[in-house]
Amino acid sequence: MIQFDHLKKSYGTGADAHEVLHDINLTIEDGEVFGFLGSSGAGKSTLVRTINLLERPTEGKVIIDGADVSHVSGRDLAELRTKIGMIFQDFNLFQQRTVLRNVTFPLELAHRPKAQRIERGRRLLRLVGLEGFEDRYPSQLSGGQQQRVAIARALANEPKIMLCDEATSALDSTTTVQILDLLRRINRELGVTLVIITHSLSVARNICDRVAMIDGGNIVEVGETAELFANP
Ligand code: ADP
Ligand code: ADP
Repeated sequence: MIQFDHLKKSYGTGADAHEVLHDINLTIEDGEVFGFLGSSGAGKSTLVRTINLLERPTEGKVIIDGADVSHVSGRDLAELRTKIGMIFQDFNLFQQRTVLRNVTFPLELAHRPKAQRIERGRRLLRLVGLEGFEDRYPSQLSGGQQQRVAIARALANEPKIMLCDEATSALDSTTTVQILDLLRRINRELGVTLVIITHSLSVARNICDRVAMIDGGNIVEVGETAELFANP
């Protein structure tokens, strides 16, 4: 479970301080596909990045599985981040590494033995539909294939939570549907909680169980996707 408790975030200090998230209160349940929908600059990315502390709350708390993580650092922060995978709009792959060595990178950081890394990397590539692509480089793949590699890498440490920041925004509509199908399978079959950032209504409707609409640093509406977007 992920809880935001009276969370506020400001950028800058003193006279330059600028509050971009105002008193956010919300609970995301285990196993949910939860979407943050809103226009550019609304604060979606800042909010979601407080979950793995790529951004620190200025006030209030982020609580994961009952523990306030707002102030963790050092080894505890590294440990927290291994439990939370993340994917991005522009994939963020290592261009100098093969597909397999992109996927096994988190396992190298964790000092897993080589044979185990390779075995797990291959299995993850099978899971995302990229068996046989182990020795290619990212530049030799399509956008959708690159995002599959990023998804496999995000799963390497068996996270319970995956953060998806505009993960399909660089992809065409057919590829978007394929990636959303893969993400839904990961949610259903592996039980991974998905936190989806999107500016796209159709992405939200396609995959999210619940959606929070963000505008100007506030949650202006939250509810079941089917109810929020039902035509009266
Ligand atoms: P969204 O993800 O909805 O597009 P963001 O969370 O990226 O919104 O941005 C929310 C607000 O915070 C915007 O006004 C943006 O300019 C500002 N912002 C984001 N990151 C920073 C930063 N590192 N420093 C200063 N302002 C930032
Ligand atoms: P297989 O039959 O090929 O092992 P599974 O569907 O059982 O397929 O699992 C696919 C892979 O996903 C396995 O390597 C498994 O360890 C891994 N896995 C299971 N749960 C998670 C999780 N929460 N996050 C990431 N990977 C996971």
